This record gives sequence, structure tokens and C-alpha cells, in this order.
Amino acid sequence: MDVIYSQDRKKGSNLPLDNAFLDRIKRDYPNFRFVEGRKFAFRPPRTIVMGPDETNWRMLLLHEVGHAICGHKTFNMDVKRIKMEVEAWEKAREIAKDYEVSLNEDFIEEELDTYRDWLHQKSRCPICGLTRFQTPDSQYHCPSCETFKNNKK
Ligand SMILES: [Zn+2]
Ligand SMILES: [Zn+2]
Repeated sequence: MDVIYSQDRKKGSNLPLDNAFLDRIKRDYPNFRFVEGRKFAFRPPRTIVMGPDETNWRMLLLHEVGHAICGHKTFNMDVKRIKMEVEAWEKAREIAKDYEVSLNEDFIEEELDTYRDWLHQKSRCPICGLTRFQTPDSQYHCPSCETFKNNKK
């Protein structure tokens, strides 16, 4: 059985078979680099890593393109990270109309929730369970335990 591949689709690629959408995005954003990877990601300043084919493939690609359009850089502050995730989805929502991709809002909320849970987990003090705060050097500090430590010095 013959399968017609999109022009750029390499052998062993996990990209969706029908790639007219990707071809168009690449044409519309010639300055961004599109590479294949194990999962979707944005590598500043302009590389978009495309994950394997899945139900929400188009949405996820638009999301990473959203990061690139917003000019996001990596931040040490996790709170900013969540803000960037929200921004990238807003951008994805904007450009989705041009590509006739319908966004599944429940999926977006789930995606954002994983970041919120991750932040919550990360900010919890492993010793006393209190919510810690983060300084720009990306270190977490517990308001209770650190005072205790300093007093002991
Ligand atoms: Zn993102
Ligand atoms: Zn603590």
C-alpha cells in the first residue's frame, strides 16, 4: 500500500501523515526552526520541537509557535513560566483561526493544570509542608525552616 507523505516527512518520522497544515505553518513562519523530538517543546529563541502524532497535535504545535511568536525566553522563576504558558495558549487561540484548527478548551485547562500542580509540588517545603517562595536565582526558601536554620547559626 502506498502512503503519500508530505514533502518534508522523513523515513521513520512520527509526524502526522497529512502534513499540509505543517507545510503551511513552515511557510508562514520561515524564521522558526521545526525539528522532530520525543515531545513538544520550544527552545528559545526560535526552535520548535514537534512531538509524535496524537489527537491534539495541531493544537500543541500552535502552542509552541505561540511561545516563539511571544519571544519567550527561559526564566528561572516558575511563576513566570506559568504566565508564559497562558500567553502561548492565547497566541495559539489567535492564530488557530487562520489554520481552521479548533482548540479544545478542556485540553488547554488540563495542560495548564499540570503546570499549576507542578508548581504547587515544587513550592511545597519537604520538611514542614509550608509553601516556599522563590528568589530570582531560582532557589526556593521556606519562611519557617530557613528562619530556624539561621537562628541556629
Ligand atoms: Zn508551553
Ligand atoms: Zn519548611
